[in-house]
Amino acid sequence: KYLEESSERKRLYNEMIELKGNIRVFCRCRPLNQVEIANGYSDIVEFDSSLDNELHIISSDSSKKQFKFDHIFRPEDSQEAVFARTKPVVTSVLDGYNVCIFAYGQTGTGKTFTMEGTPENRGVNYRTLEELFRISQERSGTMRYSLFVSMLEVYNEKIRDLLAENSNQPPKKLEIKQAAEGTQEVPGLVEARVYGTEEVWDLLKSGSRARSVGSTIANELSSRSHCLLRVTVKGENLIDGQKTRSHLWLVDLAGSERVGKIEVEGERLKESQFINKSLSALGDVISALASKTGHIPYRNSKLTHMLQSSLGGDCKTLMFVQISPSSADLGETLCSLNFASRVRGIESGPAKKQADLTELFKYKQMAEKLQHDEKETK
Ligand code: ADP
Ligand code: MG
Repeated sequence: KYLEESSERKRLYNEMIELKGNIRVFCRCRPLNQVEIANGYSDIVEFDSSLDNELHIISSDSSKKQFKFDHIFRPEDSQEAVFARTKPVVTSVLDGYNVCIFAYGQTGTGKTFTMEGTPENRGVNYRTLEELFRISQERSGTMRYSLFVSMLEVYNEKIRDLLAENSNQPPKKLEIKQAAEGTQEVPGLVEARVYGTEEVWDLLKSGSRARSVGSTIANELSSRSHCLLRVTVKGENLIDGQKTRSHLWLVDLAGSERVGKIEVEGERLKESQFINKSLSALGDVISALASKTGHIPYRNSKLTHMLQSSLGGDCKTLMFVQISPSSADLGETLCSLNFASRVRGIESGPAKKQADLTELFKYKQMAEKLQHDEKETK
């Protein structure tokens, strides 16, 4: 009993320490697939047997390049394992934090698998809502929460409402507006109130179906647009009446692959320019926040402009950099890891919320008491 308690305290303390910065980067490597095996491609990702935050990429000349992230998920890691580490970040939206989660990487590396998942292997999006419902229930004695879901797509710098189109309304052209209190709003965007997990799965499914409307090859279009799920949490403290409103963004980014120069022309060229522009704008914003340069270039893309009030300050950011283990993808894998390292090199946000510090202090005391207790029992 004592051991159980003390390991729980240790775990909580570590979790707090882990969360004290505002930007986290997790790397996730998918398994080598049947086609790659059949084609004789080799596995170029080497994991450290004792470290869970370091990997090596083996180049064609057998040289190795090392990368470090906050955590590295291996091909055999389950959706549960991934969510266990994502949970503390996403659930902080209930404490009034704005949060952004991104899945970044080349097409086919598992961005959609991580965020959406499959019916048998549900991803971060569904698990997050499930957890938000669970915690709101748990806190129902002191807090009343209401949850709203919106889903939208950014394609060629145009915003499309994925929930509106599904209800057979004509597609509306959505624009970002500056609201009075300095936040960004998307007037007209459907916000669906959600009450439980059953309806959420259907809603997410219909939204992702709408994502591929208008495209002959569904997966093609989805790899060239950003898909954003926004969860709005309204909270009311039943004791002091204080109200909060915060956003959690779960973003499945467009594929980061560079498109070969020769094959690209017309529509395809325009698309890839828009993608490059918005992905590098995202990298620029996060690194500007980190280096605390005065000007943060939010306005360089629809994506960063829309997320402006959820990036920086005391907002929390988590990026999954998704990679392929195949030797055929070496170049793209190095590009993704370099992009993510640039993002990770830095910490954003000076001010910690008071609550965070109090929490941290509480856990520090717990840890000290724990050490003391351990000495006593010896
Ligand atoms: P992306 O969205 O980055 O283009 P997908 O999520 O569509 O990639 O993944 C490509 C394929 O690989 C899918 O069939 C998916 O189910 C599979 N896959 C991706 N990641 C994993 C994983 N960690 N474990 C098992 N299968 C995976
Ligand atoms: Mg995808």
